[in-house]
Amino acid sequence: MRPAILYPLFAPVTTLPGLGPRLGKLAERLAGPHVVDLLWHRPTGLIDRLSVPSIEAAPEGRIVTLTVRVDGHAPPVIANRPYRVRCTDHTGLMELVFFHVKGDWLTKRLPVGQKVVVSGKAERFNGQLQIVHPDYFGPAEEAPPPTQVEPVYPLTGGLNPKPLRTAIQGALSKAPDLPEWQDSAWLRMRGWPAWKAALTSLHQPADEADINPLGPARARLAFDELLANQLALALVRWHQRRVAGRPVQGDGRLRAKVSAALPYTLTGAQARALDDIHADMAQPVRMLRLLQGDVGSGKTIVALLAMLNAVEAGCQAALMAPTEILARQHAETLEPLCRAAGVTLAILTGRDKGKARQAVLDRLAAGGIDILVGTHAVFQEDVAFKDLALAVIDEQHKFGVHQRLQLAAKGRGVDTLVMTATPIPRTLTLTAYGDMDVSRLDEKPPGRKPVKTSVIPLDRLEEVVEGLPRAISQGQRVYWVCPLVEESEQTDLAAATLRHATLRERLGDRVGLVHGKMKGTDKDAVMARFASGELDVLVATTVIEVGVNVPEATIMVIEHAERFGLAQLHQLRGRVGRGAAESRCLLLYAAPLGEVARERLATMKDTEDGFLIAEKDLQLRGAGEVLGTKQSGLPEFRLADLAVHGELLAAARDDARLIVERDPELTGPRAGSLRILLYLFERDAAIKYLRSG
Ligand code: ADP
Ligand code: MG
Repeated sequence: MRPAILYPLFAPVTTLPGLGPRLGKLAERLAGPHVVDLLWHRPTGLIDRLSVPSIEAAPEGRIVTLTVRVDGHAPPVIANRPYRVRCTDHTGLMELVFFHVKGDWLTKRLPVGQKVVVSGKAERFNGQLQIVHPDYFGPAEEAPPPTQVEPVYPLTGGLNPKPLRTAIQGALSKAPDLPEWQDSAWLRMRGWPAWKAALTSLHQPADEADINPLGPARARLAFDELLANQLALALVRWHQRRVAGRPVQGDGRLRAKVSAALPYTLTGAQARALDDIHADMAQPVRMLRLLQGDVGSGKTIVALLAMLNAVEAGCQAALMAPTEILARQHAETLEPLCRAAGVTLAILTGRDKGKARQAVLDRLAAGGIDILVGTHAVFQEDVAFKDLALAVIDEQHKFGVHQRLQLAAKGRGVDTLVMTATPIPRTLTLTAYGDMDVSRLDEKPPGRKPVKTSVIPLDRLEEVVEGLPRAISQGQRVYWVCPLVEESEQTDLAAATLRHATLRERLGDRVGLVHGKMKGTDKDAVMARFASGELDVLVATTVIEVGVNVPEATIMVIEHAERFGLAQLHQLRGRVGRGAAESRCLLLYAAPLGEVARERLATMKDTEDGFLIAEKDLQLRGAGEVLGTKQSGLPEFRLADLAVHGELLAAARDDARLIVERDPELTGPRAGSLRILLYLFERDAAIKYLRSG
């Protein structure tokens, strides 16, 4: 249960001043549903309002605050012209300029003869000072002038700076003084303020240092967030380790059969990864290992051989994929190899229902199935194994940590192997997996040719289409990807549908369409037709992003490539270059390109090294956006910016490790405040895990 001291911070944002139901919704979309989310909404800049003594002294281009007397109103004579309010002081004349305002509202707010404080951007028009739409104006004797330094926040349409600022100040005044969870010597050494003081600096900054990511206030808050992240992972890991593992060591007979049936030999990297895995499995401690390998690096066979190790030892294994398509593809790839070794494989996805599903469950519980391949469906309550010893999770970042735990709970001392095709920079690996053991497949299977990548403006799309029939007549297959932009799935779908239609017109009816809104069975059917060669071209939204393997596909066209992140582009490109033939990737972009988009596309052209691309991505976009955090399930940081706070992350990891070594149940002297920290950053899952043991 959340500690009572945090209740005010987890009240809905609509309890804050200025946020009614309508603005509340916008604030929620912008920052999050709770008061605390507004505290995490950080300013991106400052307005430094210069107080000037007179009209004459106001420098052009600066935001200024000054006191003047209202001299007269000049409403527009012609519609759409501005409404002007003339003001004076002892040094001269100035005008306040308003567009589209009601005159009577202004005559009330700015009565002639009144002394007023106004604040806004000073502009000079024919030498005369004017302020267009002042940010602030009010009677000099009533309202206090605006504070000199004001934080500037990211906004969303319909929510203006003023109510947002008011709400955030309201959130700040609700923030309690929390007991210190950081080590006091560490705080002193860093010169960091207390939590509440740091928040206050951030939202009531006096100067740039207060909002600078490397300044003491931000650094402290970032470290809090990173510590919560690392502590949660360390706790989960400690408890996972504490549950006794068991040594699993097969005799190699099934692996030998499968290896003999393979048309290739393992790469050095694959062999090394398997050595790591088998060594882990042989230990009486539970394995928790991450297998990182670029698209096409051959993770699937590594997974199979690891699973066979478990089967040889008389146990069961499960392989989990994030999507139906992938689960089916894994099952199809593995089925013939399993058959060759006399191993029983079954599939279980959300699509299996009723009797068929029950039959699988019965066989699974009775031990009639050696390897289960599936999707989220495998996590369900009523799925029980006879003796699960190894869980392999493909594309882990689409699943959460708790799902990993759920699966591990389905067996005794279950070993976990997590596979990710997205190369993740070392720093991000830490935030997503904590101190997991890592094996990297950094060597591609032999014979793979580089993918030739070109960057082409969209207005040459016609040429690209003209080139396709020739390639197709040579037996090549084409992916054509249309972007999916979150804001308007409808329009994107329309774009893909339209592209499908125009390509059909040009290339005939061997052009298919697959998108995220399709039913699973329909999607699979289209994919299968493309894989079998019944279709030459597959128009797709990003649903093909993950893992699907069609070695004959040699051309990847990505429309509006500038809208994709680097990691995503890399994943997409990885769909081609999987067969023997030369492959191409055409990145079509809409001009003009922004600086970051230009660098991204240039990086794609320059390298195919996924780890290098991932590092570049981190550098270009900042950690929050790498991999498209929202979809990826990687932790999203509000205060920490890993492009800047990487060093703090390592420190947080070390601190978390120490805490858990000394007090794994969080019962010691620092425990109360550390629990508050975990709740504050909503790492409740880790705490639940603590309580249930
Ligand atoms: P990943 O899942 O890592 O993206 P896959 O496991 O799907 O990659 O493997 C990609 C392709 O490479 C598959 O067609 C697979 O049969 C092939 N492959 C895997 N290992 C080797 C190897 N050692 N030599 C040659 N081909 C391999
Ligand atoms: Mg794969």
